[in-house]
Amino acid sequence: MGQLLVLSGKGGTGKTTVASALIQLSKVKHFADCDVDAPNLDLVMHQTVDPIITDYSGLPKAFIHEEQCIECGQCQSQCRFDAISHDQVKKTYVVDLNACEGCGVCELVCPVGAVHLEPIVDGHLQLYKSERVFSTAQLKMGSGTSGMLVTKVKRQMLEHGVESEWAIIDGSPGIGCPVIASISGVDYVLIVAEPSLSGISDMERIVTTASRFGVKTFICVNKFDVNIEYTDKIEAYAKAKGLDFVGRIPYDSQAVKVINQGKTIVEIDCASGRAVQGIYENIKKVIDNGGNL
Ligand code: SF4
Ligand code: SF4
Repeated sequence: MGQLLVLSGKGGTGKTTVASALIQLSKVKHFADCDVDAPNLDLVMHQTVDPIITDYSGLPKAFIHEEQCIECGQCQSQCRFDAISHDQVKKTYVVDLNACEGCGVCELVCPVGAVHLEPIVDGHLQLYKSERVFSTAQLKMGSGTSGMLVTKVKRQMLEHGVESEWAIIDGSPGIGCPVIASISGVDYVLIVAEPSLSGISDMERIVTTASRFGVKTFICVNKFDVNIEYTDKIEAYAKAKGLDFVGRIPYDSQAVKVINQGKTIVEIDCASGRAVQGIYENIKKVIDNGGNL
């Protein structure tokens, strides 16, 4: 299955707005939301079926069984993440689950076997399966395993996919581990850039990451008319790098209203929707014909 991933350097750039519009226009049968910390593609991609929900466990965490603990303090002194403290009232040592990285050192050093690593539920996966397959997930706050969950979201979509069909993935914002998990295995990346100094820097970092994976990259600018000078710079950068600059989306107050109504911007006639239509056609041209625009 061919995969197009939509990315942005940070949240709030309109990534999901663009991804949902492309899903709507292309009528792809498979799509996913890899923004597992704050998924919101489901707000505009209404489903006709209830989701199949599966618990997600990331790294195991340490648990100290107080009835066995002899308060030797070994586990606390050996924990590199300062996740263990002494509870004066309970007269035992306790683990801060938010700080525990599941490395297992405490279990290893405990002389009386009072520590065990145990899996905990860090979030859940959701699979909507009807004539279309939509894979998404929600990570619990404080869990540091978003990259692993992103991989599971994509795998869940692919396992329910049909060979040779296309999929569109709303990626994770930012440039960290979940973004790398999002990029792994995709065929095309569309970067939704923001016309600002930080927007350009974020875009350049994603381009570098995507190029390491050998992924063909498209670039578009959202709210291009907020700063034409930076938009021109982004287009010039794309051309200099041999990347396809696929379009400019204007600031559009109607877009916000449409999204708040739970619709994609291509479901009404508006300036941003027309711009994404053009972007979709440009991307399709490249995918269908190979080469560049
Ligand atoms: S598993 Fe590792 S990080 Fe967690 S409490 Fe034990 S030593 Fe600390
Ligand atoms: S190493 Fe074991 S016995 Fe010692 S304080 Fe930690 S849990 Fe208790």
